[in-house]
Amino acid sequence: MSRNQELFDRSRQLIPGGVNSPVRAFGGVGGVPRFFQRGAGARVQDADGKSYIDYVCSWGPLLHGHAHPKVLEAVRTAMEKGLSFGAPTGLELEMAELLCELVPSIEQVRLNSSGTEATMSAIRVARGFTGRSRILKFDGCYHGHSDSLLVKAGSGLLTFGQPSSGGVPAELAALTTVVDYNDATAVRAAFAEFGHELAAVIVEPIAGNMNFVLPEAGFLQLLRDLCTEHGTVLIFDEVMTGFRVALGGAQSLYGIRPELTTLGKVIGGGLPIAAFGGRRDIMSCLAPVGSVYQAGTLSGNPVAVSAGLATLRLAQEEGFHMALGEVTHAVTEGIAERGRAAGFPMVAASVGGMFGIFFRNGLPRNLPEVMECDRDTFNRFFHGMLDEGIYLAPSAYEAGFVSAAHGSAEIGETLDAAERVFAHLRTAS
Ligand SMILES: *Cc1c(COP(=O)(O)O)cnc(C)c1O
Repeated sequence: MSRNQELFDRSRQLIPGGVNSPVRAFGGVGGVPRFFQRGAGARVQDADGKSYIDYVCSWGPLLHGHAHPKVLEAVRTAMEKGLSFGAPTGLELEMAELLCELVPSIEQVRLNSSGTEATMSAIRVARGFTGRSRILKFDGCYHGHSDSLLVKAGSGLLTFGQPSSGGVPAELAALTTVVDYNDATAVRAAFAEFGHELAAVIVEPIAGNMNFVLPEAGFLQLLRDLCTEHGTVLIFDEVMTGFRVALGGAQSLYGIRPELTTLGKVIGGGLPIAAFGGRRDIMSCLAPVGSVYQAGTLSGNPVAVSAGLATLRLAQEEGFHMALGEVTHAVTEGIAERGRAAGFPMVAASVGGMFGIFFRNGLPRNLPEVMECDRDTFNRFFHGMLDEGIYLAPSAYEAGFVSAAHGSAEIGETLDAAERVFAHLRTAS
């Protein structure tokens, strides 16, 4: 029996589903999840000693690949001085200064430990600032697992949202209105009906949790305009896109200034930190200045902040995102071209170090269109690539990630593998 199988069997006895976060369980693609024992640069090694080129990068944080020497050095230096104080440190100030410099819409920022906390807190402060309760989100956008955000559209346009998870009270979900991504008509209708009640609109400015969906021209501007008109707080959830699509996040690419921004993933470089920040008058509603409570024992942890600072400084090098984007484009377009040449309907899209590959004709513009992709073919492609030593996200509905450690060797190996896998799939089908 493989060591992966053995570890998975034992884990399932003690950890629900054998995993500490559901998508890791390979539920969508079937088979045994790989248990990793180490990573270096663009590559990871599983419990059986098999090596893979990693296109998950811990779901985004590893902008420079695994165990980058500069990040490790920063962690080592910090940890030798103490792991946590529960008191302010100069490092947190450095991080705040850097975040405010890189993302100009952030005038004040607070650090916490996960993206879930950041979005939950951003919503609370938006509610506290506006004195309103209702929020608007988009189907297929993921903003962590807090109660108000695990909500799907009810039946019929603009009915109250319904819990998308057990354990979420229907009364709470009813305060979240859910519409399709890129659906300008539904957004206008929602504002016409509830505009005066909306505390916040929360959106992934490039959606990375329903595979990868780009905002259409004018969509983010429409949100900006309607929020301004109705006194609603616009929250850009850049937990995934922040520092990954561009140094200033997706907001810098589209030229939109949200009131609040949430960050996570890359800002910890692989250790747990996240942040939310934005307009000074809104952030001033937070305790201890204002009445909106938010706190965290390990918030601004010095080791995590040090890893994040080293990660962000490496990303500040001239041309960093341009180079990352070129590698990502070469890999993803190369895969899609080989797929089409083998007769599969396929498209790819990417921005910076984030990408989507779809087994369908044409890029999807919302969740229903993402769901139209050919999942069976994706699953067979996924397992073929896995056998070839290429680790893609184990789900047709997740984005993929490239790091600065991925280069021409990885592009070449990946495309050669894809060519063999497509040839095999074509003969098999
Ligand atoms: C990952 C993610 C989150 C949640 O972050 P966690 O650190 O997993 O809690 C929130 N929003 C977006 C857009 C994400 O991609």
